[in-house]
Amino acid sequence: MSAPTAQLQAIHELVLRRNPGETEFHQAVQEVLDSLGPVMAKHPEYGEARVIERICEPERQVIFRVPWTDDKGRVEIHRGFRVEFNSALGPYKGGLRFHPSVYLGIVKFLGFEQIFKNALTGLPIGGGKGGSDFDPKGRSDGEVMRFCQSFMTELYRHIGEYTDVPAGDIGVGGREIGYLFGQYKRITNRYESAVLTGKGLGWGGSAVRKEATGYGTVFFTDEMLRARGHSLDGRTVVVSGSGNVAIHAVEKAQHLGATVVAVSDSGGYVVDETGIDLDLLKDVKEVRRGRMSDYAEERGDRSRFVAGGSIWDVPCDVALPCATQNELDEQGAKALVDNGCIAVAEGANMPATPDAVRLLTDAGVLFGPGKAANAGGVATSALEMQQNASRDSWSHDFTEERLAQIMRGIHERTAAAADEYGSPGNYVVGANTSAFIQVADAMLA
Ligand code: GLU
Repeated sequence: MSAPTAQLQAIHELVLRRNPGETEFHQAVQEVLDSLGPVMAKHPEYGEARVIERICEPERQVIFRVPWTDDKGRVEIHRGFRVEFNSALGPYKGGLRFHPSVYLGIVKFLGFEQIFKNALTGLPIGGGKGGSDFDPKGRSDGEVMRFCQSFMTELYRHIGEYTDVPAGDIGVGGREIGYLFGQYKRITNRYESAVLTGKGLGWGGSAVRKEATGYGTVFFTDEMLRARGHSLDGRTVVVSGSGNVAIHAVEKAQHLGATVVAVSDSGGYVVDETGIDLDLLKDVKEVRRGRMSDYAEERGDRSRFVAGGSIWDVPCDVALPCATQNELDEQGAKALVDNGCIAVAEGANMPATPDAVRLLTDAGVLFGPGKAANAGGVATSALEMQQNASRDSWSHDFTEERLAQIMRGIHERTAAAADEYGSPGNYVVGANTSAFIQVADAMLA
């Protein structure tokens, strides 16, 4: 075993020992370590300074109680988290996830990924993540508001424009950011716009922030295809999920001439051979907060709803997993390959399992890892911070062009790093090595 390989294995064992039971965090760390052998061989200074061990240990982790009262007057208690992972490149930056599956291992995997994703944007933001095991599904606006107010009553002391800047993730959208910002403003008596991103357009939010993760994923996919002389125009696309990321991935894929034939939610998937009706999808999901089965019912004969099952069985040229972690497993990847899929890009964080990634890349399918492919969301958050700092507000077209430029830059940097470190065409290696070097150099400096 070479010295760097032995070193990386020892680090992996240390991470397992130190963070028992945090399987998603272990998976995220392993995925990065797997790419770093050639980097460690070329840069012994990283090993000597134990940079990887340092990166794997969050700078600070906060766990707190969130008591609140539901509509029936009953007291409910949830757990809140904020993991401030790495501030080498800028204030901690990353979303809040409200979902019943949230525990420390999920927040740490997301925070760890965020360090590298944020570095890839080329903008001055460190990595962090937070959230709660609170489930906003089925809760009234009043309940969500009281939960958010209680959550912020503890969180406010840990965040700030120059310290830590949360945003949304699963279960946290414009409504929740509004409640959180309102409470921050009341407690601190400061109109500190850039303490949260994903704000409403009328009170410090940025144009394109809502669309940015989905749009950016599609821009990145188009870049991967163009690098091989193809494009998205005329392609058949499958998008898993039907939340904010998925909806805007569908929208931009359609703008670029693709036909999106399937989307999903936790109840099943809809196949719509002639192309998803975006207006209906937005109405069902964003306005009515309904289900894909409602969409299918209204589309009638033009679509087919499959309860349960795997959306990856639907034949496509391009697959964009935009729902949640580990939603695309080896079996799903095999179905995609068998049906002739040529590109997969992760709109969600870590949606493909390690086995799925291996199978896809071995089969020659272009694979855009989330750190690179879905970085458009946090990049546009950084643009929101820029606008807040200069008390300015940019147009939609200008902001979208900045986003497109950033995604082109990420594609260039990851492709170049993959070449340099001996894995041409492998965006996983490219993203991990290029981001790691940037963060490591800042830490050493
Ligand atoms: N939650 C998003 C992500 O996974 C965005 C974070 C942000 O805008 O700070 O990157």
